[in-house]
Amino acid sequence: YQGLAGRSTNEVLQLYAARGGQQKLQRSSLVTQLHRAIKKRLKQDLKSLHSFALELSKEFRRQSKTCLYQVLAAVQGVQLQNEAMQMFQIKAFDLEQSLQEVTERYEKEKQKRRALHNSLVELRGNIRVHCRIRPLLPFDDAAGHSISQDRQRNLSEKVAYAADDETVLVKCSRPGHASINKTFQFERVYNDSESQDAVFADVAPLLTSLLDGYNVCIMAYGQTGSGKTYTMLGPQVEGNFAFAIEDESELGIIPRATQEVFRLISEKPPGSYWVEVSVVEVYNNEIFDLLAKDSYGKVFSIKRDVVTTREGKSDVPLLTHETVENASEFLHLVKKGLQLRVRHPTLVHAHSSRSHLVVTLTITTLVFGDNFGTSWEDEQASQRLNKDVSCTFPQKTRDSISASSSGTSSPVQFEATEKIKQVKTRLQLVDLAGSECVGMSGVTGAALRETSFINRSLSALADVLGAIAEQRSHVPYRNSKLTHLLQDSVGGDAKLLVMLCISPGQKYLTESMQSLGFGTRARQVQRGQVKKKNFPMPSKAK
Ligand code: ADP
Ligand code: MG
Repeated sequence: YQGLAGRSTNEVLQLYAARGGQQKLQRSSLVTQLHRAIKKRLKQDLKSLHSFALELSKEFRRQSKTCLYQVLAAVQGVQLQNEAMQMFQIKAFDLEQSLQEVTERYEKEKQKRRALHNSLVELRGNIRVHCRIRPLLPFDDAAGHSISQDRQRNLSEKVAYAADDETVLVKCSRPGHASINKTFQFERVYNDSESQDAVFADVAPLLTSLLDGYNVCIMAYGQTGSGKTYTMLGPQVEGNFAFAIEDESELGIIPRATQEVFRLISEKPPGSYWVEVSVVEVYNNEIFDLLAKDSYGKVFSIKRDVVTTREGKSDVPLLTHETVENASEFLHLVKKGLQLRVRHPTLVHAHSSRSHLVVTLTITTLVFGDNFGTSWEDEQASQRLNKDVSCTFPQKTRDSISASSSGTSSPVQFEATEKIKQVKTRLQLVDLAGSECVGMSGVTGAALRETSFINRSLSALADVLGAIAEQRSHVPYRNSKLTHLLQDSVGGDAKLLVMLCISPGQKYLTESMQSLGFGTRARQVQRGQVKKKNFPMPSKAK
């Protein structure tokens, strides 16, 4: 502005105009420069963007290639794995098949071995011993002693197992000692989940033997609460037997055996067999007839005695034998008899039977004269037996037989003078009283007396087995009424099966070991070949 001082307005305006033009010029050149610079920059950016895009697409292509390779490799891997899997599956299938084959072969071999073992048992007259381990039950927890919870838990711990179907494994542990496993072998071992069906399945062949002419005895041995009565009869409801239960799967050996006997008889010629039942209890070394009736026909137990006959057999004179036509008649009778059986609660079991129960089915078979002497399997024994039971029944006698045995059994028509023979075979089913020692049952007074009688009779049984095992000339059958009554089955010509019953809990370890010891000794008894009563060949029976 200093330069403008003293200048005219025109000059000033001109000056301004010239300056404006100059500035305009300058501005436009600036704009151009700027434009250029921007353009250059844009070009550069575009170029780098382009090269970046190129790089990116290259990288993308490279990476997608790698990915593709990876995917391909993975797919290949999966395919390989699939193939390997298929191979494994095939191998597993092959293995499964061969395992199945081996198992089948093993089962066959086992059956063969069992059959051989059975023949051996038969030849040697061994006592068969089956062992059943019952499940742990709520009452196993019940204290009865004032002991700590920990100790209580220990006591109800399971220590007896079925290692397999022929082996019992017992974990024996004492405080402060390492536990030892002990094993016991028997003809058959049932684990705690095996049903009454399974137990009976192994008993059934003995009943076929019964009708083939063998005497059979099945006895349950074990401490109180180990499942003897459950195994022999079935579950008890309020101390009574639920025989008529709809659920037949719970029935024990006695009702099932009777059903089976009648089923087998139904396949034979009608009228040639009849069945009689006796129910006896051995209580405090006395024998009671549980089917005896008073003059009003009411059953009440009467004391009987056991004697040895001239033939050296044991017999109970005056014992009531009731003829039964079918299994339900039998069950009705046994149920009535059982109501008279002595029972007292013990610490171990609320419905503990304090007596030995012996249910006997006597099967009388009529054999007709035509067949005598032709088809006996054992001639010598046949002659002896002919002497024993062969007789000539006139028609009247035969009628009286059928009348006394039963009104309804359809008698066979035969000639008045035809020679017939009666052959009797016997099935004895025994539910022994508990084998525990006095301390375990926690009884006193009269019950203590009962227990000592039970113990004495069971040790008499063990002594008898011991004497037979050692083939001593004198077998002390008469030391107790129980052994005297069972003499023919234990020492004589019967197929004998001992059903050992075991409680699995630690609390009962001593008792279980005692029972297992009894079973082991019983297995070692050899009584000589079991004799068959003489029957004609079935095809020849009339
Ligand atoms: P024991 O006659 O030896 O004294 P029980 O047969 O009376 O013994 O059995 C004692 C209890 O155990 C009963 O309540 C019975 O129902 C139950 N029991 C026994 N064995 C079995 C088993 N295998 N399965 C289920 N319950 C059983
Ligand atoms: Mg019982």
